[in-house]
Amino acid sequence: MKICPNCSSQNQIKSGVIKGRQRYKCKDCNYNFTVEKMGKKIDDYYVNKALQLYLEGLTYREIERILGISHVSVMNWVKKYKIKRPYNNKYHPTYKILNHTELANYFSNINELKGAGVVVTELGDKFMLIKWERFRD
Ligand SMILES: [Zn+2]
Repeated sequence: MKICPNCSSQNQIKSGVIKGRQRYKCKDCNYNFTVEKMGKKIDDYYVNKALQLYLEGLTYREIERILGISHVSVMNWVKKYKIKRPYNNKYHPTYKILNHTELANYFSNINELKGAGVVVTELGDKFMLIKWERFRD
């Protein structure tokens, strides 16, 4: 089974031979790659992060913007791991990227936390704060 190094899809077709190596074309993102490049896989860390953000209600495009991972990859992972999230159009989470000091300041203000759900996840050398304001119309 071949895995697309660009989006981790397993859907590809043979696309000629280059310098003695079989070349493949990914059917999901049209990325061309040879078998030698297969080892290059997106770190599992980002797979977990992406799925976490997806479950928190962020869109594929938002996840792409935040993590710098193609939305096609995220869609494939959601499919691959059969992630389902409950349908909800009443709220949408907002998010901020903060460093440690900013995060500490944020939590020192009780008004930021009242009536809201907050999730903090590490993101590189910073922290991402996802806030749900749940009980608003
Ligand atoms: Zn691909």
